[in-house]
Amino acid sequence: MLRGLVTTAKVMLRPAHTAEYPDVRPVLPPRSRGVIALVQENCTVCMLCARECPDWCIYIEAHKETLPPTTEGGRARQRNVLDRFAIDFSLCMYCGICVEVCPFDALHWSPEFEYAEFDLHDLLHEKERLGQWMPTVLPPQPPDPAAPEPKEIAQAAKAAARAARTATATAGRAATTGRAAGSRKAADAGRAAEAGKADAAGGTPGRRELPE
Ligand code: SF4
Ligand code: SF4
Repeated sequence: MLRGLVTTAKVMLRPAHTAEYPDVRPVLPPRSRGVIALVQENCTVCMLCARECPDWCIYIEAHKETLPPTTEGGRARQRNVLDRFAIDFSLCMYCGICVEVCPFDALHWSPEFEYAEFDLHDLLHEKERLGQWMPTVLPPQPPDPAAPEPKEIAQAAKAAARAARTATATAGRAATTGRAAGSRKAADAGRAAEAGKADAAGGTPGRRELPE
């Protein structure tokens, strides 16, 4: 018991680490997962985020719109128009899957975390409110210089090298064909000149004079 009292006394003398929020605002890492921001214009209604969300707290509604053909005789095209995009932050567990899977950079993490509500229903953020978080999103980090080269860049470099090799080979073949054609033409011209000389000297040996 005496040992317990000593431990209690020691702990009481230690300084407290509790931050008295909201009087003292916590200093969080700059890229903390505070709230999810949406760029409406980037969203193509592919539904990947809603399908992958483990909490099913993303609600998307859209309709199709027919666009007239851009060229004469072309086909009319259809595109999805976003009507509703909402995230229920009372269900969200901030796993970040939706931000990771979005192929069009429509979802971003904002470090803002001060959006507590007295009513749970008010934690359902519609697309207008999600869009208002965008100015608080930090710009993307520069690439890590020590990171391995992305495979897309390596593939593009290989494709460019292949295309350059093909172009060089084609140009070489064209030059060879052109030289051969030039030699043939020169030979033909030489033969024609020889024949002309022979005619001038008394006729070609093989040519017969037709009787009058
Ligand atoms: S962070 Fe996770 S739980 Fe929250 S909306 Fe995105 S996928 Fe769903
Ligand atoms: S994954 Fe991105 S583009 Fe697809 S519906 Fe979600 S926010 Fe829109």
